[in-house]
Amino acid sequence: MSEGQSSSAARFHSVETAAPENTAVAEQPIAVFRGPQQPATNIAEKVKALESLLTQAAGEFDSIALASSLAAEDNVLFDVIARLKLNIRVFSLNTGRLHQQTLDVAPALQAKYGQTVQWFEPLHEAVETYVNTKGRDAFYESTALRKECCGIRKVEPLARALKGAKAWVTGQRQAQAATRATLPVREFDADRRIEKFNPLADWSEADVWTYIRQYDVPVNKLHFEGFPSIGCEPCTRAITIGEDIRAGRWWWEDPTSKECGLHNANLKSN
Ligand code: SF4
Repeated sequence: MSEGQSSSAARFHSVETAAPENTAVAEQPIAVFRGPQQPATNIAEKVKALESLLTQAAGEFDSIALASSLAAEDNVLFDVIARLKLNIRVFSLNTGRLHQQTLDVAPALQAKYGQTVQWFEPLHEAVETYVNTKGRDAFYESTALRKECCGIRKVEPLARALKGAKAWVTGQRQAQAATRATLPVREFDADRRIEKFNPLADWSEADVWTYIRQYDVPVNKLHFEGFPSIGCEPCTRAITIGEDIRAGRWWWEDPTSKECGLHNANLKSN
C-alpha cells in the first residue's frame, strides 16, 4: 500500500474550481467515496488474462506504448509491465494543468519499479495563443473551446508520443462512461492507424482496487478524496453518491460526448 492509502479519508468535500455557473452537483453535501474501499473481488483469472494479453501485445509489436494518465487503472497496467519486464514504453501527457498529486505519481512509480514515465508536453506557442486569444479557462465557455484546449494540451502531444508506435495501450474500462460501454479489449485505432489495446475493458472498479491492494501499487492520492477519474485540475471535480464515475470530468457537458479527443472511436461507436 502506498503512502497515504491506509490513512486516507473515506469522506470528501466537493472541489472548488473556477467553474461555470452550472455547479449544482458540485455543491451537494459531503458524500462517501467508495472506490478504494470496495470489497475484494476474485481477480485471479482476470490477472492471468491481463498478463497474457500484455505479453502477447509486447511480443507482437516491437514499438508499443502505454498512454498513462497516472490513474489507478494505468498504474495496474504499469505494474504488470514492470513486473513482467515487458518491452512497453510508458508515457504521460503533462498538460500543464494537472494536479500536483497526479505529478507526484510518476516519481512514486519510479521509486517502486525503477522505471520512468516519459513526459510529453503541449507546444508552448499553441498554449500561449489559446491563452491570449481565448482565455486560459475558456474551456468552460463551450464544448468547442474545451475541445480546442484538449486538442492543444492532449491530442497533439499524444500524436507526438505515439509517433512511430505500432500499437498503444490504455487503461479505459467499459464501466467508466456511457461513451465506453462497448469498448473492446483490442481494436484498430482508425484515427492513428495503429492497433489499440484496452486490457481492462471488462474490469470493474472493485477489480482495479483489489489488484492495487494485492500488488501494493502506488496510486494518486486524489482517488481517496472522491476522484475516481482524474484529468486536468480545472476540468475535474470530486463526485457524489450515485453519480457516474466520470461525472466529475467536464461536468458541465453532455455525458454522451465527454471525451477529450484521445479516444474518439468511443464517440463514433455510440
Ligand atoms: Fe484543457 Fe480541460 Fe482539456 Fe485539460 S481537460 S486540456 S484543461 S479543456
